[in-house]
Amino acid sequence: MRLARLHEPGEIAVDEVDEPSMRPGSVRIDIEYCGVCGSDLHEFEHGPAPLRAEDRGHVIPESEWSDHLPMPMGHEIVGTVTEVGEGVDRIAVGDRITPCLILPCDDCRYCADGDYHRCERITGPVATPGFADEIVVPASTAVVVPDDVPSRHAALTEPLSVSLHGIRQGGLAAGETVAVFGAGTIGLGVVGAAVAAGAKEVVVSEPRAARREAAEAMGADAVVDPTERDPISFVRDRTDGGADLTVEAVGKEPTLTQSVRSAAYGGTVVVLGVFTEEASIHPNDVMQAERTVVGSFAFRGGHQRDRGEFPAVLKLLSDGRLDPEPILSDVLPLAEVDTAFDRLRDPESDAVKILIEP
Ligand SMILES: [Zn+2]
Ligand SMILES: [Zn+2]
Repeated sequence: MRLARLHEPGEIAVDEVDEPSMRPGSVRIDIEYCGVCGSDLHEFEHGPAPLRAEDRGHVIPESEWSDHLPMPMGHEIVGTVTEVGEGVDRIAVGDRITPCLILPCDDCRYCADGDYHRCERITGPVATPGFADEIVVPASTAVVVPDDVPSRHAALTEPLSVSLHGIRQGGLAAGETVAVFGAGTIGLGVVGAAVAAGAKEVVVSEPRAARREAAEAMGADAVVDPTERDPISFVRDRTDGGADLTVEAVGKEPTLTQSVRSAAYGGTVVVLGVFTEEASIHPNDVMQAERTVVGSFAFRGGHQRDRGEFPAVLKLLSDGRLDPEPILSDVLPLAEVDTAFDRLRDPESDAVKILIEP
């Protein structure tokens, strides 16, 4: 079968490999779509990255790349089960599923508490071989897609779960104001989730025109181009002096500063972007304003799979409260996976989420 792998930063190629072998407790999926994630793009540009910065510094050094390359990528998967392994009874051949790829160790304090996404030895979704014809995953990860959710929307379950988790970490209440910095897939998902959660006003700062338009289509009440106007004063003007909740969905120092300073006094700042480099804020902006800064990583998974964000997102997609269509820019065949990456890293491109269709 075909499997796309990163051979070195900037070079992804479709290789012919053996079909993955079946294991007890697993299911084989005929992949219908696999979305290109911001984390895939990050590794495409910078090389293999550790999940947590504190484990190995902020990047895996070039001298160790040979341990990781060629590296499969692609974890935003939807497809149909074609084979179930020994001992699998909750999933059947023919089920359309999306795998929730938080694979916990089941042995650390966080796993004991059911906080599997905080697991000290978490594996997945990094290096998941999803840009492929098929994949074998543990049946325990499988979440069944409702019949009325089209596969191209179900392929967004994973990134939308990241967005929804961010809103939950920020403790958004109905009637509150929200400012989102960055309208990539995750930021746009935050806009949709905030609107679905009953936010009073959602303001988005984003330099690319196409993404500002997508933010409006997702329900944003106001958008600002931060290269044209100071986004902090824009957010303050729109939200009576500061947003109740701000979300950093870029992973850069300027947007971190903007997220902190445009939050209301007593408001909450969610750090949702993935940072390549360290970034600093002035602690007095937190101290004197009594703001709360919270992190948000992935989504509830592992044995919480059926009680976490995945089923919540699928329900929102199913009943139409969340329409991800503005996020979807294109569907490309597996043979053109390199084009997808080139388009996503081109700052002039209109692309947001590209799905790969094997
Ligand atoms: Zn992803
Ligand atoms: Zn654990």
